[in-house]
Amino acid sequence: RATAVHDVDTALLRSWAVPMPAIEGDKEIRGHVLVLGGSSEMPGAIILAATAALRAGAGKLTVATGRSVAQLVALAMPEARVIGLEEHDSAGIKLDAVARLDPLAERVDTILVGPGMRDEPATAELVHALLPRFEAAGTTVVLDACAMGALLHPPGDWPPDRPWRFERPVILTPHAGEMAHLTGIAKEDICLDPDPHALVAARDWNAMVVLKGARTVIATPNGTLYQHEGGNVGLAISGSGDVLAGIIAGLAARGAALDQAACWGVALHARSGEQLARRMGTLGYLAREISQEIPALLEQIA
Ligand code: AMP
Ligand code: MG
Repeated sequence: RATAVHDVDTALLRSWAVPMPAIEGDKEIRGHVLVLGGSSEMPGAIILAATAALRAGAGKLTVATGRSVAQLVALAMPEARVIGLEEHDSAGIKLDAVARLDPLAERVDTILVGPGMRDEPATAELVHALLPRFEAAGTTVVLDACAMGALLHPPGDWPPDRPWRFERPVILTPHAGEMAHLTGIAKEDICLDPDPHALVAARDWNAMVVLKGARTVIATPNGTLYQHEGGNVGLAISGSGDVLAGIIAGLAARGAALDQAACWGVALHARSGEQLARRMGTLGYLAREISQEIPALLEQIA
């Protein structure tokens, strides 16, 4: 039986309206986002994601990244509290970082892990070490890029014959290549017919799966499917996905439900690309310019 697909259009977004802060609301009420990621090779990804979270209206931002780049990130992002974490020689973040991040579980509304991280088992190990604490605190978890490798490298005490499944639903934002890597299904097959793959993965993993592309599908663990077509090829640039993940994290911190944060995020990201294309041309705008469009778009759509 084919699943009905809901279009992510203005009517749907308006029916969900992103929670607006009270006029007297302070920054705590607007949500605190923790972005964990970055590496000496890719320190910019975390800046893109963290900036996007603020542009989506989050009130407070903490960035946790490798010690070797923490000061640079702090200079580039005066709005953030920046925590520098011990790194391996490979530039990946050490597992000891968990002790530094643990106390934040009670304070942040959303944790985004992944932008600029290295694709190595240590990254997955770090995610698994953090998950239980943040899950217990009720923090919304968004995993992007290499942090999604946690699906392929479950913790040591997980039964080897059972695929990993999240305890509480998280948001995952794979593009087709990452989806292929995570599922073992050929990328061509995923591109040809993404809907069933997103739905099966969402149910099996207990996750909102935002399967990105020119057409993006958002599948929920209980079998609801959304689609969004928009934006333009100019969005296919380095850093673009980091911005999307940041927008979603920011909206979730403001209090949007997981599926709503995902759909709103995808639409805002695409419409920002459309505005930039009109002003600057379809190719050549930068990932860092995408988030500048968000505040006005949020007001227009909401
Ligand atoms: P990433 O590959 O992780 O950097 O993410 C790329 C982002 O750009 C995703 O949000 C995609 O949905 C979006 N994107 C890529 N190509 C297109 C396209 N041709 N039209 C619209 N959006 C696109
Ligand atoms: Mg990406």
